[in-house]
Amino acid sequence: MHAVVFNGPHDVAVREVAEPRITDPMDALVAVRAAAVCGSDLWTYRGMASVAPGARIGHEFLGQVVDTGSLTDQVRVGDWVVAPFRYSDGQCEYCRAGLTSSCTHGGFWGREVLDAGQGELVRVPFADSTLVRIGDGDEPDESMLADLLTLSDVYPTGTHAVVKAGLDAYSSVVVIGDGAVGLSAVMAARRAGADEVIVLGSAHPDRRQLALTVGADRFISVRGADAVQQVADITHGAMVSHVVECVGTQGSFDTAFGVVRDGGTVSYVGLPHQVSIDPARLFMHNITLTGGMCPARVYMPLLMDEVLAGRSHPGRVFTATLPLDRVGRAYELMDRRESIKCLLTVGA
Ligand SMILES: [Zn+2]
Repeated sequence: MHAVVFNGPHDVAVREVAEPRITDPMDALVAVRAAAVCGSDLWTYRGMASVAPGARIGHEFLGQVVDTGSLTDQVRVGDWVVAPFRYSDGQCEYCRAGLTSSCTHGGFWGREVLDAGQGELVRVPFADSTLVRIGDGDEPDESMLADLLTLSDVYPTGTHAVVKAGLDAYSSVVVIGDGAVGLSAVMAARRAGADEVIVLGSAHPDRRQLALTVGADRFISVRGADAVQQVADITHGAMVSHVVECVGTQGSFDTAFGVVRDGGTVSYVGLPHQVSIDPARLFMHNITLTGGMCPARVYMPLLMDEVLAGRSHPGRVFTATLPLDRVGRAYELMDRRESIKCLLTVGA
């Protein structure tokens, strides 16, 4: 079978690899129909993650179950399913507490298990608890694939950020980041009934337009102290009670602490890269810092219902669609910020 392999910095390509087989009675094999490239895959692509050449890549995928182990009974051969960005057993203390991202027996695609999302076939451990069936398991309409694929990661992650921020109706929120997670957080904030959503993003006009389309009221394209000043102007100096940080850099954290009002909450879901935080800075202003890696599997069923009912269209974060064998181009488009997020079609 074919799968994407990371060969080294700025080099990903489809290669012939060993076909996976069921090795545990709780496994399933999924024939991938659509996979996504994530912003976090770019860290690998740029050679900034500790990933060795030869590794598989991709953690967002959906497709059809083509084989199952003897103890798998919730998902069946023929079912169409979405996989979260991490697999989990559904049984351990963390899973039962709703923190599947900390599952004792869980792991990441392409790391704890060989197969990853950007390929033709994936062996899925703990298939019953990991995979989420799409509706009754029938093949989804082609037009739904992008919306459904966001359930692997970005839409639950944006939702998690908003939930952890404690955002409720009539709140004002600043979302830092105009990538797929930031845009997902905008949609989630709207769903939560936010009164005003202010996005701090880039100077890229397409991103600004998309942020406004999915629900932002305002878009600020300057950074640092200038962005903080603009938020102060908009809020007449009051700043905001909720900040959702979706970037993960020192600059974005500094901006988050600059725009949150005393007693407010900063929720972060961007994977932090070399960020240092002074607790005294939070202490003096009673700032709550929350967030973290999203337990996507917990959010997926509810968000799946929403997507299948047509109440939300998170697939708008995809701005390019390419076949799997053009994966190199997909990474290039995202690396150059020419596309927010790329969808890879597989098979069919
Ligand atoms: Zn678990």
